[in-house]
Amino acid sequence: MRYFPAFMDLKGRSCLVVGGGALAARKVRPLLAAGAAVTVVAPRLGADLEARRAASEIAWTARGFVDGDLSGRALAISATGSAAVDERVAEAARRAGVPVNVVDRSELCSFVFPAIVDRDPLVVAISSGGASPVLARRLRERLEALLPAGLGRLARFAESFRGAVAANIRDFAQRRRFWEDFFDGPIAGLVQGGEEGRAREAMISLVNRGGATAAGRVQLVGAGPGDPDLLTLKALRALQRADVILYDRLVAPAILDLARRDAELVPVGKAKGHHSKTQDEINALLLRHAQAGHDVVRLKGGDPFIFGRGGEEQAYLTARGIAVEVVPGITAAAGCAAAAGIPLTHREAAHAVTFVTGHGSAGEPELDWAGLASAGQTLAIYMGLSTAGVISRRLIEHGLEPGTPVAVIENGTRPEEKRAFGRLGDLEALLRDRAIEGPALIVVGEVVRLAGQGQVQPETAALRAVAV
Ligand code: SAH
Repeated sequence: MRYFPAFMDLKGRSCLVVGGGALAARKVRPLLAAGAAVTVVAPRLGADLEARRAASEIAWTARGFVDGDLSGRALAISATGSAAVDERVAEAARRAGVPVNVVDRSELCSFVFPAIVDRDPLVVAISSGGASPVLARRLRERLEALLPAGLGRLARFAESFRGAVAANIRDFAQRRRFWEDFFDGPIAGLVQGGEEGRAREAMISLVNRGGATAAGRVQLVGAGPGDPDLLTLKALRALQRADVILYDRLVAPAILDLARRDAELVPVGKAKGHHSKTQDEINALLLRHAQAGHDVVRLKGGDPFIFGRGGEEQAYLTARGIAVEVVPGITAAAGCAAAAGIPLTHREAAHAVTFVTGHGSAGEPELDWAGLASAGQTLAIYMGLSTAGVISRRLIEHGLEPGTPVAVIENGTRPEEKRAFGRLGDLEALLRDRAIEGPALIVVGEVVRLAGQGQVQPETAALRAVAV
């Protein structure tokens, strides 16, 4: 890091600005906003600074700079427009040990001004370390748009309750959770909506009740297919505040990296051939952590309500009085189809898409084969690798053409993603030849012919030729 970021307390402190023109005036404004006592040294003042002097906002020493001007200053800024004078100020400031900024001469500066987003008392400062001021400014514009104008009001409101909250909620972790809930909750909404009176009443009674309810809560969070960019904002927030995260083996490491640093990460397995906890054990663990007052995230690949047993966990926990929230995720079918450029429905090729599990208790999935084999639809088969042979045979027996195109997407949306294309009749051979080991999604249907350009494997190129 080229520059050390810090926020300086300049309230009532003496600061020197050398130069009286518009450039100097621009630097005086933030100094005054921070409560600094500003002295301007310059033979003449431009209109801006003259107005400030007339209003007694600044002191003016009407002459050129001398080294002695630096004594007792918290910082100095040189904006004279004269390279020689600026250099002299910088040199003298260095000797005197006074932090100095010279406008547009970063090599002469001992500190730089960041781009700021001001939601006083909340301030975001951005620096590119001189590498690209434009980039820093663009970032600032984005943050300006992102941070609501009422954020400063909210920060001041929270500040006014800090003491009361600390007195009523003594436990540190509980207190942190209280504030997390507060900023997501209805009272914060009132403050930002300008209804501070009502917010204050609600806050007082909440704080008097000791803040958060005793029991923690569980969020069933969908982690999506793997690419962290495919998380929802809500999932990201859940990860960043959770005390405990129980995750499946399908969840990509890059996503776990987004968890709060001190969160407890508990793998609960669910990968073929690995020892994993039973669903009963997982339920009991979730309950125990929630009852201990923790903020618990149950993190699942894809969407928690699609082949994820989220429904069972929800039923178990709500029956025991634990609040459950579900945060949906991008399911494997949607993620993999997007990665491969396969539209799951299409006006001409498929008017329905069915998500099916290939998992079967006695080796063969119990599915409505006739229904699945009917024309004009897409099948997205989850957990279908080990039963792929029987799946393709049954579909063909029930009327699907052996030549129906299939795509297999392994580790969809992850760096190690692999795609294989072929025909339904050769599905088993395709998996073997391409050494597909999972997790993988199988897509069956005419839509596979529409796989995005540039994604086409030789097999599909042939199919496309047939189709045209
Ligand atoms: N709840 C998950 C599905 C869990 S079942 C969801 O909504 O996606 C596990 C199966 O999902 C795997 O066997 C595989 O078929 C599929 N799957 C999950 N993630 C995948 C990925 N990144 N690429 C391909 N298939 C995936």
